[in-house]
Amino acid sequence: MVRVRFAPSPTGFLHLGSARTAIFNWLYARHAGGKFLLRIEDTDLKRSESRFLEEILEDLKWLGLDWDEEPLFQSRRFDVYREKAEALVAAGKAYKDGGAVFFNVEPGRTIAYEDLIHGRISVETETIKDQVMIKSDGSPTYNFSCVVDDTHLGITHILRGDDHISNTPKQIIFYEAFGLEPPRFGHMPLILGTDGAKLSKRHGGVSVEEYKREGFLPEALANYLVLLGWMPKDGREVMTPEEAVPLFEISEMNDVQAKFDIQKLRWLNAEYIMKAPNTRLIPLVKSQMLAAGLAATGVPDNYLSKVLDLYKIRTKTLSEFPAMTDCFFREDFVYEAEGKMHLEKPESREYLRLLADRLAGLTDFSHAAIEAVFREFAEERGIKAGPVIHPARMAVSGKTKGAGLFEMMEVLGRERVVARMRRAVNG
Ligand code: GLU
Repeated sequence: MVRVRFAPSPTGFLHLGSARTAIFNWLYARHAGGKFLLRIEDTDLKRSESRFLEEILEDLKWLGLDWDEEPLFQSRRFDVYREKAEALVAAGKAYKDGGAVFFNVEPGRTIAYEDLIHGRISVETETIKDQVMIKSDGSPTYNFSCVVDDTHLGITHILRGDDHISNTPKQIIFYEAFGLEPPRFGHMPLILGTDGAKLSKRHGGVSVEEYKREGFLPEALANYLVLLGWMPKDGREVMTPEEAVPLFEISEMNDVQAKFDIQKLRWLNAEYIMKAPNTRLIPLVKSQMLAAGLAATGVPDNYLSKVLDLYKIRTKTLSEFPAMTDCFFREDFVYEAEGKMHLEKPESREYLRLLADRLAGLTDFSHAAIEAVFREFAEERGIKAGPVIHPARMAVSGKTKGAGLFEMMEVLGRERVVARMRRAVNG
């Protein structure tokens, strides 16, 4: 049975690269009907913090991943690592020096394996110095504890980042020393920015947490991370990890570096926002509003839902929502500089005044009825719709762009619309 694991070190937030590693291990396990396990690599007692662990687990759940069995904590297994190291000392394969335990690497050998993603990789043991297994402070090294625990957990396949390629031969040497068959290894190419540089803040952020805060939906981020390592044969791009499970083939994974393109992620996010039910988006939008300093507490959900109906097809991340929709939640919104001219022309002011009077008398304040008022007005004057719509849009929203003007007006309601049109004219 396939058994894979994700092995985070709780010394920081969940990095996008690690999240992608977790997703692919999960995909592989679920596709094969196997198990996906968690191992917490908290051997660095000084740098490991429980708040990071909590965040990591929460982020994994947020991304839609579930795991089997209880997570294994390396910090609770120091005696096991020591015992395994002592066994190698007793077998003459390792030695102690200054409180540390070293593995004796035999020169003149070639260590080779068939990488699931890159094909054959081989290394000469000449290039590998004697390996520390247990440090003088009693903690195990990553390579040693990794082998002891992957064996203990019965791991069959190890999928991890390319940054571990140089560790793998060292781990294989430990498997050999224990007389064990190593698992299969696959190393995923690193994620770079579109400019080819190491992923950093300026590419849009490096941790899952940053994207969550920016108003990305988890299925969009997870979907994007999947595309950074693999694409189904039919070229389909929009799929949640759940939907990717039956299609996934490890042999189809990319062996070249992946470029992180924030615009593509934003596009995917827009796709998922568009499809998401308002009941799900409302609490997310409320927290974005609070973060942006827009009062969201007294706002009824059915009102927010109407605003969402107008804007969810226009929003790429939920963090854009407060600025795009502030006119629905406050009277003191500002007029965009580039639209002010629409409010300054004498004829625009005249139109606004007259239209406000007509709208004030409209009993059915539906978008269709409002539109009819505008069309009729333009026709009577023999003018196009633009010269009346632009000033009206500025007057009610302060913006030159946004949802359909008449739909916006319907949601805002007659009193606010009329008052705003008059205010724009009277200053
Ligand atoms: N803790 C290691 C890391 O975060 C795990 C590497 C592995 O999967 O073996 O990179």
